[in-house]
Amino acid sequence: AMRILDLEADLRRAINGDGFVAFYQPIVRLSDRSVVGHEALLRWSHSSSGLLTPASFVNVGENSSLIEEVDWLVYAQVADRIAHTSGGYISVNVSPRHFRDSAFADRLLRLLEKAKADPRRLRIEITEVALLEEAPRVLNMLKHLRGHGVLAQLDDFGTGFSALSYLHRFPIECLKIDQSFIAGLGSETRVESEAVVRAIQALAGSLGIHTVAEGIENVHQQRLVRELGCTLGQGYLYGRPLPELVEGVQVEEILVG
Ligand code: C2E
Ligand code: MG
Ligand code: MG
Repeated sequence: AMRILDLEADLRRAINGDGFVAFYQPIVRLSDRSVVGHEALLRWSHSSSGLLTPASFVNVGENSSLIEEVDWLVYAQVADRIAHTSGGYISVNVSPRHFRDSAFADRLLRLLEKAKADPRRLRIEITEVALLEEAPRVLNMLKHLRGHGVLAQLDDFGTGFSALSYLHRFPIECLKIDQSFIAGLGSETRVESEAVVRAIQALAGSLGIHTVAEGIENVHQQRLVRELGCTLGQGYLYGRPLPELVEGVQVEEILVG
C-alpha cells in the first residue's frame, strides 16, 4: 500500500514535469522489413528508478484515472511528432476508460488539428474489452474517428473475450495478434499457437482486415508467421522501442482505408 501511495505521488509529479515520454517501435512488412509505421509506447523516466515500462506503474494509474492524463501527454507528443515528420502511421494505445467519455474522439481530433498533424497518420490501438463495454458508444466514436482518417487496430487479439460475433460491425483496420501466440510458435505449445494464428488469419482474411504479428524476436518465428500468412510484424527482431522514429518509412502505406 505504501509503495502504491509513493508511486501515485510520483506519478502526479511526473505529469506536471516532463517525466513521461513516448518511445517508438517500428512495424514492418515481413517480406522486406520495410517500416510501415510505429507504435508509440509509454516510458516513464523516473528520477530514482530509471526508465520504467508501463507494467510497473500502469495499474496504479488505471485505478486512480491518472493514466488518462498520462495518455493525453503521450497523444500530444505523438501529434507533434506526426506534424514534424513525414512517413507512415503512429499508433497510440487507448485504454478502455477513455471510451466512457463520449468527448474522447473530438478531443483527439482537436489535438491533431492544433498540432497541424495529418489524422491519417494516427491510429488508435484498442482492446477487445473496449468493444464489449459500451459497444454502441464505441462504435460511434470509431466511425467518427475513421471519418476523419484515424483508423483503429485491435490490440492483443486472441487473449480477451474475442468478440468474434460482432467484430464485423466495428470499423477495425487491423488485428494485432498477441505476442503470446508468436512466442508459443517455437515452444511445446506450438500446435495450439499455430491453430490460433491460423484461425485469426482466416477470420481477418474473410473480413478484409489486416493483421500484425506482435513480439517477433527471431527469424524462426518470422518464418513461421509468414508461412501462416501474416504480412506485417512487430518485435525486437526489427527494433526495440526507442525515442526516435526509424527513417525511410513508405508513405503509400498510410493512404489505404
Ligand atoms: P502493447 O500495446 O501490446 O505493446 C506491445 C508491448 O510488447 C510493449 O511493451 C513492447 O515493448 C513489447 N514488445 C515489443 N516487441 C517485443 C518482443 O519482440 N518481445 C517481447 N517480449 N516484447 C515485445 P511495453 O512498452 O512494456 O508496454 C506494455 C503495454 O502497456 C502495452 O502493450 C500497452 O497495453 C500498454 N501501454 C504502452 N504504452 C501505453 C500508453 O501510452 N497508454 C496506455 N493506455 N497504455 C500503454
Ligand atoms: Mg499496443
Ligand atoms: Mg499488444
